[in-house]
Amino acid sequence: MPGLFDLTGKVVLATGGASGIGLGFLRGCARQGASVVILDRDPAAADAAAPQLMELGASAVHVEHVDVSDPAAVHAAFESSIAALGRIDCVFANAGINLRAPSFSELSVEQYHALLDVNLHGAFHTLQAGVRHMKSRAERGDRGGSLVACGSLSIFHGVPGMQHYAAAKGALLAMIKGLAVEMGPYDVRANMLVPGFILTKLTGDSPEARKVIEHFTAITPLGRPGEISDIEGPAAYLASDASRFQSGQTLIIDGGRLVRNI
Ligand code: NAD
Repeated sequence: MPGLFDLTGKVVLATGGASGIGLGFLRGCARQGASVVILDRDPAAADAAAPQLMELGASAVHVEHVDVSDPAAVHAAFESSIAALGRIDCVFANAGINLRAPSFSELSVEQYHALLDVNLHGAFHTLQAGVRHMKSRAERGDRGGSLVACGSLSIFHGVPGMQHYAAAKGALLAMIKGLAVEMGPYDVRANMLVPGFILTKLTGDSPEARKVIEHFTAITPLGRPGEISDIEGPAAYLASDASRFQSGQTLIIDGGRLVRNI
């Protein structure tokens, strides 16, 4: 009997899939037997992640070295992934960067646009490529799919110096809600995975970063920062048919941080 989160025969693509939360997402799907696509601009990290995913149980691993801010490259990567693996069932639009400014007044126009190019526009190119594929599949009678964007608690909390980051995530949530409505008739659902503080390359390990880790440990009810393994279960749920009636929602994985009032 296949398990509730079985992903045999499904193909899952994650942007930024070579490390951190994207890799955690693909690890969860690989454990359930999915074929996975790592779409990442870091070729060395992507090539290192591929054998790890095969060892965990992926049916196949396909790697695309792409910068998500380049729409033509993203659409071409989807085409070659579909040619290699036959289809894509779940898209995780996750690639993101964090260019924090000392304050809003010191946030440069260049920083603002550089961040939006990746975190918002890159996710738009990714989701649009996924939508075009899923629509054309549905029109051939092969319906279904799961679109997932990576959010952040900055949507709900005011974070000084990160208004551009929060604006990108907030806009993505609005995009996901629109996709949930537009893609429902194709049996495609759209949701946002919202990680709390998760230890990755993005959070760093400098002395300053260690202070931030201590801070988040103290304010997280479950008493620790998140790890990429904490993303594996939610990923298997969102990619599998177990989540087939959930759409237009956020799934918050934060150790209880958001509901703590101080
Ligand atoms: P990470 O740096 O560990 O991983 C990001 C991955 O994305 C890397 O492999 C990197 O090469 C890739 N990437 C970056 N820019 C890219 C681009 N232009 N094109 C293709 N690939 C690109 O960081 P992470 O913490 O795993 O972040 C992933 C996502 O999670 C981001 O969207 C981030 O905003 C979000 N997030 C992170 C945290 C956290 O605490 N780590 C919390 C909430 C949300």
